[in-house]
Amino acid sequence: RHVREDEEIKKLQEAYENMPKSSDIKTFDDFPLSSLTRKGLKENKYKIPTEIQKQSIGQALKGNDILGASKTGSGKTLAFLIPILENLYIKKWTRIDGVGAIIISPTRELAYQIFETLKKVGSHHDFSSGLIIGGKNLKFEKCRMDQVNIIICTPGRLLQHMDENPLFNCTSMQILVLDEADRCLDMGFAETMNGIIENLPPERQTLLFSATQTKSVKDLARLSLNSPIYIAPHEKS
Ligand code: ADP
Ligand code: MG
Repeated sequence: RHVREDEEIKKLQEAYENMPKSSDIKTFDDFPLSSLTRKGLKENKYKIPTEIQKQSIGQALKGNDILGASKTGSGKTLAFLIPILENLYIKKWTRIDGVGAIIISPTRELAYQIFETLKKVGSHHDFSSGLIIGGKNLKFEKCRMDQVNIIICTPGRLLQHMDENPLFNCTSMQILVLDEADRCLDMGFAETMNGIIENLPPERQTLLFSATQTKSVKDLARLSLNSPIYIAPHEKS
């Protein structure tokens, strides 16, 4: 099983060097994806990527930072969940490796929706995931945090753990997603986001998604992204 996995990882990495153009992507099978992710997509009837998914998944798989702008309902969740699953899979991340990915979402409800989608699409991978959104028992969150591979959280609660929880360790973290960044900023989380980013290892990959490109989003992008690829699909009506 491990030999097969090693061979698949090698093939995927070679395919990243020769990534198809987004305009040539017709189905998710046109992306170099692990069989475990393909299976999760198929079982949930995801076949044709949306425009933001076509344009961002290939770039993210190659390891680029992304500044993506596209409206609500355009499919941003899979545009970052697929790269997270692939990033950790390629690195043979296991449960004992701790926090590998952090997804920051402005509200508990949105975080919960991301969690649900991850549980479906990522069901064949062996990563642990957890919601860190407050409202639950902080003690319970504290004990579990360091064992979770993919954290989905709201800004305030994450920073609280960074400040107060000695068990929380994200020094090996690989990939950060800032989802609905404009809404996070509108809700007054600018300082909190800056505080979080200061606490994260700088050599990570970062994907930032936002419905609009305001000045404060650009400020956050400057602080959090490294030579990002800009992606703003034309909206079809
Ligand atoms: P956004 O975050 O941009 O608002 P979501 O990721 O929540 O959008 O996706 C909106 C809806 O579209 C969800 O119900 C999701 O399941 C569906 N969806 C996303 N990508 C696809 C796809 N490639 N094919 C079919 N449905 C999709
Ligand atoms: Mg969304």
